[in-house]
Amino acid sequence: MLGVDSSRRVLSGMRSTGTLHLGHLHGAIGNWVQLQKEYECFFLVADLHGFSTQYEQPNMIANSSFEMVMDWLAAGINPNNPIFLQSQVPQHAELFLLLSMITPLSWLERLPAYRDHNETLQDKDLSTYGFLGYPVLQAADALLYRAGLIPVGQDQVPHVEVARSIARRFNYLYGREDGFEQALELAQRKLGKKLSELYGRLRKQYQEKGDVDALLAAKALIKEQSNITISDQERLLGGLDGQGRNILPEAQPLLSPHSSILGVDGRKMSKSLNNTITLRETPDDVVKKVMGMRTDPARLRRTSPGNPENCPVWSFHKLYSKEDTQAWVQQGCTSASIGCVDCKKPIVDAINEDLQPVRIRAAEYEKDPGYVRQVLVDGAEHAQEEAEATLDQVKEAMGLGRFY
Ligand code: SF4
Repeated sequence: MLGVDSSRRVLSGMRSTGTLHLGHLHGAIGNWVQLQKEYECFFLVADLHGFSTQYEQPNMIANSSFEMVMDWLAAGINPNNPIFLQSQVPQHAELFLLLSMITPLSWLERLPAYRDHNETLQDKDLSTYGFLGYPVLQAADALLYRAGLIPVGQDQVPHVEVARSIARRFNYLYGREDGFEQALELAQRKLGKKLSELYGRLRKQYQEKGDVDALLAAKALIKEQSNITISDQERLLGGLDGQGRNILPEAQPLLSPHSSILGVDGRKMSKSLNNTITLRETPDDVVKKVMGMRTDPARLRRTSPGNPENCPVWSFHKLYSKEDTQAWVQQGCTSASIGCVDCKKPIVDAINEDLQPVRIRAAEYEKDPGYVRQVLVDGAEHAQEEAEATLDQVKEAMGLGRFY
C-alpha cells in the first residue's frame, strides 16, 4: 500500500447489463484504451451493480459480464491490467457495508440520477435498498483501490462527489487521534531535516494561501518516502488540511468524451431501445441497419431537400467523415442533389472498417473462452490483494477486531 500513487491510478467500470455497441466504443472504452497507456488502470465488471436495477435477470447479468469482457479485450483493453468481476472480490461488499453506516440518506436521495431513474425507468422496480445505496457501492469500488481518478460521463460526476464526501467523512470520524499534532511532528521528523522543513513550508503555503501547487508538491513528497510507516504517511497527508490521518483518498472525476452517435432510430443509442450497432455486428448487418436508419422526415421523396441536423446519419458523419465528405453531405442533403442511400454508403464503409479489427480479435476470444476466464481469475487475484490491504486499514481505523 505504501507507495500507491493515487493520482496515477484509475478505476474504470461498467455495469453488466447488455452487449456493447458503438456508443460505448466511442465514449467510455475508446477513452479507457488511451488511459491505460498513461495510468495504472483497474477495470471493474460491475455485476453487483447490475442487480440494483435488474435483480430478476441473473442469467442476463452473468452472460453479459462475460461477453462484455470479450468486447473490452477485442476493443483494445490490455489483459495485463487487472480486469475482474466485482462479485469475485468480496471486499467490495464488505466496504460497502461499512461505508453505508456513515452515509447520510439525504446524500443519496438528492442525487439527480436517483430522481431521474425513478422517473425514466418506470418499468423497473427501483424501490429497493440496493438501488438507493448503489452510489455507496460505487464509492467502495474506487476507495478499495485508492484510485485518484474515475472516468465518468457528466451525469455521474455527482456520484464521484458523494464518494469524495464519504471518504472525507470517514477520515474525519476515524482518522482523528488524540495528540495528532505531536504524532504529526514525530512523523515529520522521520523525513529528515531537509525534507521536514520542505514539508513544513509547503503545508504552511497551502494552509495560509490555499496554494494548490504546494499541496500537490507536498503530496508527491510524501508518496516518495518509502521508509516511513503507512500511519505516518496518512498523518502527513492528513496534516496538510489539518484533519487527522488521511486513510481514504478522495478521487477526482475524469470526464469521458461524450459519444454523439445516435441510435438507428434517432434516439440515444441504447440496448434497451433496441437501436444499437454492436461491436460484433457482421458486415451484412451493418449494411442492413444503416440502410434502414431513420432520416430527416422532410426528405419524403428523393427530390425533397432535408437538413442533416435533423438526421441521425449526420451524427455518424460527424464522427467518421472528413471535412470534404461532411461538406458533400451538407450541400447534397439541403439541395436534394444526393439521396439518403448515397449519403449512408460512406458510413457503412467507415463502420465496417472501424469494427473489423474488433471482430477479428473477438472471434479469437470466442474460440478460446478459457483464456478470457483466466484473465478474470488473475484480475480478481490482483484486485483482492489491493482491496484487502485497504480493508485492513479501514477496519483497523474503525477498531474492528481490536480485542484479538
Ligand atoms: S441525405 Fe444524409 S443527412 Fe440528409 S436526410 Fe438523407 S441520410 Fe440524412
